[in-house]
Parts: sequence; C-alpha cells; structure tokens
Amino acid sequence: MTETSCRIHRGCHEIGGNCVEIKSASGGRILIDLGLRLAGETSMPDVDGLLNTSTNLLGVFISHAHPDHYGLLDQVAQTTKVFIGETAKNIIAASDFFTPLPSLGNVETSPLVANETRQVGPFKLTPIPIDHSAFGSFCFLIEVDGKQIFYSGDIRAHGRKSHLFDNLVSAPPSNIDVLICEGTQIGRDPDFAFPDEKSVEDAFVSEFQKTKGMGLVWCSSQNVDRVISTYEAAKRTGRALILDMYTAEVLRASGSSDVPSPDAKDVHVFLPRSQKSRILREKRFDISKPYYPNRIYPEKLADTASTSVMIFRPSMLRELEKANCLLDSTCISSLWAGYLKRDPEFLRKIKSLRIAHKHIHTSGHATVRELERFIAAFPDSRIIPIHLQDRNGFVKMSDRVELKNDKEWWGI
Ligand SMILES: [Zn+2]
Repeated sequence: MTETSCRIHRGCHEIGGNCVEIKSASGGRILIDLGLRLAGETSMPDVDGLLNTSTNLLGVFISHAHPDHYGLLDQVAQTTKVFIGETAKNIIAASDFFTPLPSLGNVETSPLVANETRQVGPFKLTPIPIDHSAFGSFCFLIEVDGKQIFYSGDIRAHGRKSHLFDNLVSAPPSNIDVLICEGTQIGRDPDFAFPDEKSVEDAFVSEFQKTKGMGLVWCSSQNVDRVISTYEAAKRTGRALILDMYTAEVLRASGSSDVPSPDAKDVHVFLPRSQKSRILREKRFDISKPYYPNRIYPEKLADTASTSVMIFRPSMLRELEKANCLLDSTCISSLWAGYLKRDPEFLRKIKSLRIAHKHIHTSGHATVRELERFIAAFPDSRIIPIHLQDRNGFVKMSDRVELKNDKEWWGI
C-alpha cells in the first residue's frame, strides 16, 4: 500500500491543458480533465491507460466542454472509461460538426448527473454544477481512502448562474483535505469592463438603442449566457434575434428552457456559407431541416436590419456586406479582448465599412475577489493552484496555498 497521492500533469504553470491524476492507496487511479494546452500542442500527458489498456485507470472525468479541459479525448484508447455531463457532451458534438474544435473521438462515455455520486473502484466522485462561461460546468468532490479532494474546474460568480457559486460557498462540503483551485484571472489584465452578465445585457441595450442599423454581437456560440444576454437586450429594444445554425445547435444541445428558442417569433436562423457548405458536403439535412420554418435568407437581411440583432463572427463579414445589411450597424465584440488583438485586420475592415465598434464583455473566470470568497469556503484545506500564470499572486491570497510543479506526485 502506498499513500493516497495526486499529480497535476499540466496546469501548474499555465492556463489550459488541465489534467490531474489521483491515485488511491490501493493503486487505482482516476484522471480529472484531459485538456488541450492553449498553445495548441497535442501531445498526451504520460498517463498509463490513456493510449493503452490499463486495469487500474478507472476513469477520466471531464468538468466542462472547453477544449483546454477535454480536448485530448479524441486520442485516448477506446477502452478508456470517460465520464462527462450530457450537456457538455452534446455541446461538444454540435461544435465538432460546425467547427475545427476537438471531438470526443471514439470513446464511449458515461453520463455525469449534477449532484449524483459515481463510484469507480475506491473513488466516489460527485459533480457539483457551477457558474462558468461553459454551459453545464461542474466542480468535482472526490472521496477516496477517507480523504476528500475538491476540484474547482473553471468557476465564476458573476454569470447568469451566479446562484450556483453562492449556493456552494454558503454550504460547502466540509472537511476537504485538498482544494485544487483555478486562478486564471490572478495577475491578468482584468477583462472586466463590465462586472457581470446583467451589466453586459444593459450595455447591449444602450448600444442597440443608439444603433440605426443591425446590431452585430461577436461572441462565442458556446457562451450560452452571452447569447441569452443578446436575446434579452434584443427584446428590450424591440429587435429580433438572428442566430447562425451552429449557435442554434449549441442552444438546442444546452437542453435548457431558458435559452432563445428558434421556434419563437422573434428568433430567426441564418445559415452562413461555411455552415451551409458543411451541411451539403456531409449531407446532414437532418440538422438544417428543423430550422426551415424559422430561416432568414440573405436577401431578407437588409429589410430587417434595423429591427435585428445578429450573433456574428468575422468570417461572416463578406457575405453580410454582399447582403447590403451593414449600413449604420454596430459590431459589439463580446469575448476575451486577446482575440481582437490577434486580428487587427478585422477592426480596420469594419472601420472601412463604417461599422461602429464597441467592446462589451465580462470574463468567464472568477475575479480575485470571487476566488477569495471561494477559498474561504474551505477553511481547513490545503490549496493547490491550477490553470494560472501568476503563481506568486495566488500565494498572496492565503497562507494555505502550496505550489506544485507539473508531473510531481504529492501526498494527500
Ligand atoms: Zn473553461
């Protein structure tokens, strides 16, 4: 028998690539997340049982549908047992069809259900739903050998599900030995021009009111909270919402009744050329057919521009330009500001088209103040940071913080 132990393969010194291995005293192991590094490197962490069959790798548990948490699953051996929430799984499937984002590959998955404990070997794992920019995100409570580990995954307290964060910190599981906690926002340029999702919605309203033409919102289709904010702001300003088919599919995959429904009178579905050619090439008319009654076609866009808001991305600019629907429009970039900086040509292009630009965003990750609230909810636990760049900044938050290095085993 050895002691219960843990190692973080990736994430001690970087944002992304999360992968945590936990080993029981009897030798059984589980993996928490198996993410792609943000640098795009696709090599697998050195874990027995990912590329081969290993009887003591008992399962891989995925916290949410962001590639830096699941993106290497498409490489694992078919015999690997993977556990993931149904919502996350369905969102990944929708993205896999319409985007170059990683798929789940050929692995068989078992569903994780909120607050329902799964047992594999000596491990008990309970997924606890949490607020984050990925819909259907979980924290994990892991019990093994009489020890308790809490894994934050990615968290925040200022989205549309902030009550989940409030509920957790007001009644947290007790006697946690080790808290493995994300620290994305520590030491970063705060991307918080707006403090929360509600203030983003209000800022959208004020922009849509000022805009004579179409409102364009450039956000991630997977940021379901942001699509809801766009819809709410559209309704408050008497505008209809135009979704591209990929976004419509993500909303359907969310399984939520709070999202804009393509069946509603004030919601239309537009099929951008890239998505259309994908459907034609793959003959996936089963995807497009349900949206026929609510489709809006390019020749209609100009007529409805002043009463519409569209979920938009830069690749759609040229076809919208051809559709003559961009006169007096405003483009709101509503995603991490780093994406804008990577594409300076886009800002020049919309300026030349006389499209007004605003940046209105709130981060998918906890602020430092929110992280302080989070770790205060686990007053007796050791705290191991993950998913961060500023390790020293995290240390300053509590004298319970222990810095670890990638790949090193440590006892629980
Ligand atoms: Zn995430």
